[in-house]
Amino acid sequence: MNALDRSHDPGRQSWVASAQSHPDFPIQNLPLARVKHGNTPGAIAVAIGDEALLLPPAIEAGWGKDLPPGALSLGLSALNVFAGRPPAEWRAARLALSDALSDRAWESRLRPALRPREELEYLVPFQVYDFTDFYASAYHATNVGSMFRPDNPLLPNYKWVPIGYHGRASSIVVSGTPVRRPRGQTAPAEGAAPAFGPTRSLDYELELGIFLGGRNALGTPVPASEAAARIFGICLLNDWSARDIQAWEYQPLGPFLAKNFATSISPWVVTADALLPFHVAMPARPSGDPEPLEHLRIPDNWTVAARLEVLFNTAAMRARHDADIVVSEVRFEQAMYWSPAQLVAHHASNGCNLYMGDLLGTGTVSGPDPASRGCLLERTWRGTEPLTLPDGETRKFLEDGDEVVFRGRCSAGGAVSIGLGECRGVVLPA
Ligand code: MN
Repeated sequence: MNALDRSHDPGRQSWVASAQSHPDFPIQNLPLARVKHGNTPGAIAVAIGDEALLLPPAIEAGWGKDLPPGALSLGLSALNVFAGRPPAEWRAARLALSDALSDRAWESRLRPALRPREELEYLVPFQVYDFTDFYASAYHATNVGSMFRPDNPLLPNYKWVPIGYHGRASSIVVSGTPVRRPRGQTAPAEGAAPAFGPTRSLDYELELGIFLGGRNALGTPVPASEAAARIFGICLLNDWSARDIQAWEYQPLGPFLAKNFATSISPWVVTADALLPFHVAMPARPSGDPEPLEHLRIPDNWTVAARLEVLFNTAAMRARHDADIVVSEVRFEQAMYWSPAQLVAHHASNGCNLYMGDLLGTGTVSGPDPASRGCLLERTWRGTEPLTLPDGETRKFLEDGDEVVFRGRCSAGGAVSIGLGECRGVVLPA
């Protein structure tokens, strides 16, 4: 495991005043995003309190002179090239950002490169060539399985192989992008033909997204001991899902049009180095469960101590300026059966070539109790236990105009807490 350095020092403060005690973006976080910037294809920015430092003008002002030249790929228009550099350069760039944003000697040079975060327009931070979604919470898999197979909720492969499917990269959108209700085929009533029309069971899935760095050549697996080093950073991810379309189409090859119409991600990538203080050991497997096979046996198998939450509001609530309601809260580190590194090792175990900017979704993050379930399918138990909103409205699944908001926060003793920001999306009519 990598050691903490001065960028994690809880006593470190920034000359950007709003960074002090900032709930999401104190100087100990320094997440990266891609934003619109003049006529360029985009610019990388780093969050610091309520501001963001744009890297191209910061580099012009002299930041990063002492870095290896490759690390200055942070000045490019997307994160792929930087994420293709060695992890030592990711770390060096983070340290140089932390040093400059905490040293008043830099203030006059860097202040012109700061922008208020709320004025920025965000883009997907990488050119994402491949997106894979997993199913790594055994609570989620057991809940969903028990709805469809009460006698046999968890299939026999679950404890041996991290289940996943290839998603669609081109429909990944950044937080704030509205999501149009998809149309699709749904199961016929007995003796009838299937129907085609707007989904009637639109759902969200609370997930973490894992952005990969580096690359392995096709045909060259990633050894278990090297899988964690491929994790560049994480974000919040909403795997929007149309349950009625999914139920009709998913056998025998898995999800397709029920999920590829949109996947929302939070704009800020919280980097692997920022997560170091929040590493905790994966929970022990329940007694009687098999040990993972050799290629999935990760040395020092960590996960991230993070509390995730689902918030929700409706068009009527927004018109009245009502506060969002909290639908679910879950501890990520307690919810997952497979760790982030195990997902990476498994994905490459057949020689599949993973590429910088590839995105892995963890699968719906659900915990043991009803209030920790990460999608409406589980939260309302297929609509049989609808949510009641403060104004008396009810929800089994999402209605047009509903907005879903994910938040996440990492905390650990002795460390300054950091946030993942926010992933939001409003549902448009079909
Ligand atoms: Mn999913």
